Amino acid sequence: MQLFVDKDPSLDTSWRSIILLGRNVASYKFALAKSLLEIDTSSSEIEIENLAVPFAKNICDHLLNNEKQVTSKTSKFLDACKRFNNAEINEEELKQITIRMGFVNVIDAFHIVAREETTRFFTDNRKENKSIILTDNFYKLKEKDIYGNLKNEAESRWNLWETAISLNVNPSLLEIINDDEDECLFVLDDKKRRQNVTSSRDALNGYQKSKCFYCYKHISIQQGNENSCDVDHFFPHILKDYGLSEVDQIWNLVLTCRECNRGSGGKFEKIPKINYLEALNKRNNFYIESHHPLRETIINQTGKTDTERKDFLQKMFNNSVSHIPIKWEPSEIFGESI
Ligand SMILES: [Zn+2]
Repeated sequence: MQLFVDKDPSLDTSWRSIILLGRNVASYKFALAKSLLEIDTSSSEIEIENLAVPFAKNICDHLLNNEKQVTSKTSKFLDACKRFNNAEINEEELKQITIRMGFVNVIDAFHIVAREETTRFFTDNRKENKSIILTDNFYKLKEKDIYGNLKNEAESRWNLWETAISLNVNPSLLEIINDDEDECLFVLDDKKRRQNVTSSRDALNGYQKSKCFYCYKHISIQQGNENSCDVDHFFPHILKDYGLSEVDQIWNLVLTCRECNRGSGGKFEKIPKINYLEALNKRNNFYIESHHPLRETIINQTGKTDTERKDFLQKMFNNSVSHIPIKWEPSEIFGESI
C-alpha cells in the first residue's frame, strides 16, 4: 500500500492509485475515470448532464459483455442501463435517470484511496451548479507522455475486476494464464471454457507506468507506435524445454522496450542480472499488496509470504542460470527506476 499512498505522490501515481487500489463494490469508478479521459475538457467545468451520457454508456458497453457490475443484487441505475441496451428507453431517458441516480457515491468517493483523500482531479460543484470542476492536476496529467495509456489501463482494471466478481468463484481458484501468441491473459470458467481477461500489456503496465522494466525508457502499450513495448519473459521462454513450465506464468512477464528485448545488445535468451530479481519481486509484491485481481494468482504461483516468494525466485534464478549461464543488463539506463 505505501507504494502508492505517499505524502507527495506524482500525478500519474495518484491517478493510478484511484484506478488500481481498493476493493470496489461497483464498477462506477472505472466508468467515471474512462469518461473523464474521453469527454471534451476545453472548459474545466463539466456539467453533470454532459457527463451522464458517456458515463452511462461506458457501463452499458460493459453490461453487454458482463451482466454483473455491482456486488449487490440489485441496482436501479444498472436496470436503466440494461433497459437502454434492450432499446426499452432512449438516450434522453437514460441521461435523466443517470443524472438522478448514476453518480450516487461515485463522485464523492472517487478520490478516496485506502481511506485517505488523494490528489484531486476534480472538485464537486453539484450543490452550486450541478457540475464538477476539473483541477489543474487533471490538465497537468493530460500533458504527460503516459496520458494515452490511461484509458487502456482503466479498461484493463475494469475487465479484471469483472472477471473476479462474475465468475463468482473463490479468487484463489482463479488461474490466470498468459497466452504467448496473442498476449492475452485468460481464465478457465467452471466449464473449462476460456475467457479472455485482458491484454497482458494493459494489466502489466499498471505497475510499470509506461517504462521499460530494464532500462526505464518510455514505452507505449499501444501497438504500431515507434516505441511500442514487448512482453518479455524475465526467465526466458526457452526454459520450458528444460522443464521449467512456470516461466509462462504472469509473475514472470514484464514489459520492455524493443531494444532491451530483441535489439542489438538485447536480452534475448539471457538471464537478467541479480539486481533485477529484486525488482521483479517488488513488482509481484505490488500486485499482492494493491489487491489487484492478479493478487491470488501470483500468490498461488510464487508463495504466500514475501520470504516464500523470495525463495521461489532465488530457486528459479539458480535453476535458470544452471541452464543458461549468461547474465544480461541493458547497456544504457534512461531516467529513474520504476
Ligand atoms: Zn529497455
